[in-house]
Formats: sequence, structure tokens, C-alpha cells
Amino acid sequence: MKIAVIGSGYVGLVTGSCFAELGNEVVCVDIDEEKVAKLSAGQIPIYEPGLDEVVARGLERGRLRFSTSAAEAIRGAQVAFICVQTPSAADGSADLSRVEQVAADIASHADGYVVVITKSTVPVGTAGRVERIIREQLPVQVEFDVASNPEFLREGSAVFDFMHPDRIVIGTGSERAAGLLTDLYRPLGAPLIVTDTPTAELIKYASNTFLATKISFINAIANLCDAVGADVKDVALGMGYDSRIGLEFLKPGPGFGGSCFPKDSRALIALAAQHDYDFHLLRGVLEINDEQRRVIVRKLERQLGTLAGKTVAVWGIAFKPNTDDVRDSPALDIVEQLLAAGAIVRGYDPVVGENVYERLGITRTAGPMDAATDADAVVLLTEWNEFRWLDFHRLAEVMRSPVIVDARNLLDPPVLRQLGFRYEGVGRS
Ligand code: NAD
Repeated sequence: MKIAVIGSGYVGLVTGSCFAELGNEVVCVDIDEEKVAKLSAGQIPIYEPGLDEVVARGLERGRLRFSTSAAEAIRGAQVAFICVQTPSAADGSADLSRVEQVAADIASHADGYVVVITKSTVPVGTAGRVERIIREQLPVQVEFDVASNPEFLREGSAVFDFMHPDRIVIGTGSERAAGLLTDLYRPLGAPLIVTDTPTAELIKYASNTFLATKISFINAIANLCDAVGADVKDVALGMGYDSRIGLEFLKPGPGFGGSCFPKDSRALIALAAQHDYDFHLLRGVLEINDEQRRVIVRKLERQLGTLAGKTVAVWGIAFKPNTDDVRDSPALDIVEQLLAAGAIVRGYDPVVGENVYERLGITRTAGPMDAATDADAVVLLTEWNEFRWLDFHRLAEVMRSPVIVDARNLLDPPVLRQLGFRYEGVGRS
């Protein structure tokens, strides 16, 4: 199938290269010229395990191309995926300006039947908006259909997730479009939910905000564990083995971050408000999430007395391991709070780039030991595996005072306490 993918970020790049891997002919478009030049040369602008190999194979076999020209991609395409970002607007709703711009681009260049698909996360009604824009702006009479096909991949395992989805959701009012998309996804062998566009659009928000709710719930339970002297790890296991609850997303920490959960929660609250529904459950989820960053800073304050003039080593800046994405990462908020309290902050993350440290105004160090040398405390904010297997004996020697706040419950408290560390996890008091 001939496929146009407009927007070649985390979602578009994975979508385009994986469809090429499945034997389709794909052109990925982006307005970022530097990104397109890099990608055309086989260089991957983001850190995503396995993506480099899929892109290299696509380029080598001539099935994958990158371009800054929407026209080049859309002419002759049977399907066009809109994969641009949909960030929060000032009122929390999703900013659809890029989606609308791409819809107009598609209208100007479509030259035959094409299914226009929103893969970006978009509020209910967007497929209808895209359809209106295309209908109004088509210069010639060209047949088209619209569909909503939300994406559920996770950064850090995006290629695997794309190739092994739990389900595919297709929302469309057109049998022809549903047939085409069913054919396209058939090789993945995943359960297919074919529904109308509003339902497909809502499935994505309902899924993300449900997971966000689970995280805030276990964070609240963890805070209670700290207060009453219970162990949240065992509470989560005891809950999670119940098949109605499940073990996933019951890990307490510094709160959820990333480019999706916070913005999608805000967007769903805004969508509900537009329809006179106060989604107070989700407002609570976000409040707990904001508060959780302060919980981590308070743990450091409890250990150090005051943060003013103290050196804190921050281990991990990405919002989760196996990605370089720092969008809405809890580490950004926590570093800002530490700096505001007068702490001197040194950071280490295996993949996050120099520009992030510059933006935060903190020193970048070459490794976790360098960050911790002469530090008054370490705060572990991203659960990179390399933090698990350090020489903690040496760590105790190089630190000014052996304090660890483990915001991801990654480390082994008894071992660390035996080595003389003052250790605090989340909900493991
Ligand atoms: P991104 O910022 O990584 O990528 C978006 C890309 O679109 C950028 O490279 C940008 O330059 C490009 N772009 C913007 N306007 C354009 C235009 N007019 N023409 C061509 N290219 C244009 O964003 P992302 O993380 O890939 O997310 C895209 C969408 O997918 C969002 O709605 C997001 O909520 C959703 N989503 C993201 C994930 C994720 O894990 N990142 C998962 C599922 C869904």
C-alpha cells in the first residue's frame, strides 16, 4: 500500500518505518528540515531502541523515504496518517492547529481516493473537523474518507509495541476505509475494534487517563504507607495479583510525566467541561500527580534539614527509562524545586542531551558516581537499569553524606542501610 505519514516524531517515525518493514511504500514528512536530512541519511534524531535498524532496512529496500514536501507524500497515497503533536493549549484543551494545517495540506495535494487518518491523540469531534476542512479546501473533486486510528505505543519499546499491539482501534463511518485499514493492519494479527470516530477518539483518552489514574492511586496509597508504616511494594503485589486489578501501573514514584498522560488528562478535563461535565476524578488525579513531586523534595528536606547550599545528585532526567524524552518529566519539576530551595544540583542521565542540562541550569556529569562525588544526597528519578548494579560500597565512600532518596523504589533498602546509607523510598518506610 502507498502510505503518507505527516509528522515524523516519536509516533510518525515509528509508524512509517514499521509500515515499511511490513512491505508498504512509505513517505514520512516533516516540516523540520534538519530532521528530514538526518533521517534521509539514516540518522535517528531520537533515542528509541531498535528504531535505527527498522529505518535502515526501510531506506535500504527503497520502501521508506523522508521528505519535507507534503505534496510528494500525498500524491498517489491510498492512506495518509496525521501524526503531528497536539500539545496543551492555555486552557488545557488540545491545540489542534497542526492537525488542521495538515488536513489543509492533504486537501491541496490529494489526487485520488485517500483515507485520511488521525493517529495523533485528538479530542472527540476532530475527525469531523478534519473532514470539513478537506471538503472545503479540495481544489478538485477527489474522493476521500476520514478515520481515527489512535496509537498506543510506549516510548522506550515503541517498535515492539507497534509490531505487537494489544489491539487496533479503527473509527470510521466508511466501510471502504475500514476495509483498507483492516487490510493494512492484518499482518499484525491483533484484535481489531472497528467503531465510529467519536468512540475511537475517546478510547485513546479513556485509556491514557485510566492508566494515569492508576498511577496517582498507587502514589496516594504509597504516601499512606509512609504514614502508617506499611510497604507499598507488597500492597501493590497483593492488589495486582487480583486479575480484576492487574500488576501493571501500580508502581509508585515521583508522579507520571511524558508527552501524553499529563496533557491528555488536561485535554479530557477540558473536553468534559465543554460538555458541562466536571471530571473531578481526573482533576484529583492531576493534583495528586503535582503533589507527588513535592513529596520527593520533602523527603530530601527531611534527610538534609535544609536544602540551601546542599549538593544533590540527580540520577535520571528522562520521564522513564529507554527514552531521551523529557517532556513533562517529573525530574524537571523536582530539579526546579531543588534549585529554588537553594540546592546545588548535578545531573546524570545515560541518554538525555546537553541542552536539557543547560535549560535547567545544572551541571552535567559523566556518570552516577561523578554526580554523587561529594554530594550530600542522591535522588534517583528515572529507573535506568544501570543504577541497580552500582558499587554502593564505593558510593558510600565518595558521598559527603550517604543519603539516597529512591523515587522509583529501584534499590534494595536493607543492603543500602547495611552499608550505612540513610535510604528513603516511596511508601517503604
Ligand atoms: P513529536 O513532537 O515527537 O512529533 C511531531 C512531529 O510533527 C514533529 O517532528 C514536528 O516537526 C512535525 N510537524 C508539526 N507540524 C507539521 C506539519 N504541518 N507538517 C509536517 N510535520 C509537522 O510528537 P509525538 O510524540 O510523535 O506525538 C504525536 C501525536 O501522537 C500526539 O498527538 C501524541 O499525543 C500522540 N501519541 C504520542 C505517543 C508517544 O509516546 N509519544 C504515543 C501515542 C500517541
